[in-house]
This record gives sequence, structure tokens and C-alpha cells, in this order.
Amino acid sequence: MVFVSFPGDEKSSGGCLAAGRGFFHINSHGGAEPCPFSPYSDVNVRDTGLKGAMNSALFNALRSGDLLVDDHKGGCVLYEKREQVQALLASEKNN
Ligand code: SF4
Repeated sequence: MVFVSFPGDEKSSGGCLAAGRGFFHINSHGGAEPCPFSPYSDVNVRDTGLKGAMNSALFNALRSGDLLVDDHKGGCVLYEKREQVQALLASEKNN
């Protein structure tokens, strides 16, 4: 069975399901991204495997913060907060 979630369905799913909370996206180069609508990556599944990608610093930061469970008003939370996602990625690169 395959469930597909698009912007607008997250409220009934308990929030944004990106970054391994429900799924994640692998781009054509192997980069693990939170969601196709949030195309940022800090790991490549060819290097880390799927479990490693699930535990990437970016995904962990997103899951442990409050961005994914923020109240949904029908749009894409991570797109609306893309500056915060970019800041997480940048701070990770500086560590
Ligand atoms: S990143 Fe956006 S489109 Fe993807 S699951 Fe979260 S809210 Fe939905």
C-alpha cells in the first residue's frame, strides 16, 4: 500500500511527514532530501545507506525541532520556512 501526501494533507496526518517522520525523498544524484518540496541534502544514500540517511544531521535537527509539527494552514511548512532549513544546513556545515 502506498500513501501519498501532498501539501494540504499534512494536518490530517499530524503534521509534516518529511525528513523521515513519514518519508524522505532521494534525488536523482542520491541526495537524501526531507521532501521534494524541500530540496536540501547533507548526505548521499550511496555513502550512508537508507538508515544512515534517516539519521542525517539535517533530518535529526528537523525531527527534533518544531518545524515539522508546526500548525498547517494548507501550504508546505518547509517551503514556507526554507530560510530556517537553509540555516540548519549551514550551521551543520560549520560544525
Ligand atoms: S515538506 Fe511540505 S510538502 Fe513535504 S510533507 Fe512537509 S509540508 Fe508536506
